[in-house]
Amino acid sequence: MITVQRVAKAAGKHLTKGLLKLRKAMGARRNRGCPACGATVVGFFRYGDNGEWGCPECNASPRERLMNWLIGEGRLSVPADGAVLHVAPNEASLVRRFSVAADYVPADLHPEIYPVPGMQRIDLMEMADEDRYDLFYASHVMEHVPDDGAVLRNIHRALKPGGEAWLIVPLWEKPTEDGSFAMSPRERERRFGQWDHVRQYGPDFADRIRAAGFDLEEIDAASIDPDVRHFHALDDRLFRARKPAGAARE
Ligand SMILES: [Zn+2]
Repeated sequence: MITVQRVAKAAGKHLTKGLLKLRKAMGARRNRGCPACGATVVGFFRYGDNGEWGCPECNASPRERLMNWLIGEGRLSVPADGAVLHVAPNEASLVRRFSVAADYVPADLHPEIYPVPGMQRIDLMEMADEDRYDLFYASHVMEHVPDDGAVLRNIHRALKPGGEAWLIVPLWEKPTEDGSFAMSPRERERRFGQWDHVRQYGPDFADRIRAAGFDLEEIDAASIDPDVRHFHALDDRLFRARKPAGAARE
């Protein structure tokens, strides 16, 4: 769906991306760095309200850079010997990082739109795996599912005890507002920022994760050393959910 809002966002992105290319060509100092592709850059391009959104070399978003930084620093580790379910794998740097796992499963409700080898079709509403995965990763997915409580319980069941779900969602400061697919696309875009979002999460997303049986650690970019955060233009918040090691089977 094309809307004024989306056109404006795209125009801002292309304009600032072009300016960065020009500054680089003119020899501007490359005093910033992208942890997703490793490039040194003169800055990051705008998308919407975020003036430092994308890497001009690899297009990595702030959340993609945050994940790469956390993994690169050893704050998070990818289970190389284990099984990883990577939903909506549209971040190439994370496909590279997660696909080192012995059992790497890239999957989506619409697998045909991802150019990742081995894509599988998965409907998180129907996922019935038990004790199957060591790591589940989904960034900007939960705001698309009809019943997030059911999906969180399915993820919990699909993880091995001790396994982790790394979740990122669009956030605002207000409490979560739920919608449905019965609303018109235009109404969903107006209320939730995008036509195919059925809710807008607030900080209480944490409560929903805990209600599904997880232990939770929240890692917010704001908690990272300001110089490091600025250098990589890190933003966003990771919800790191862990299925307790002693979790009983449902
Ligand atoms: Zn990059």
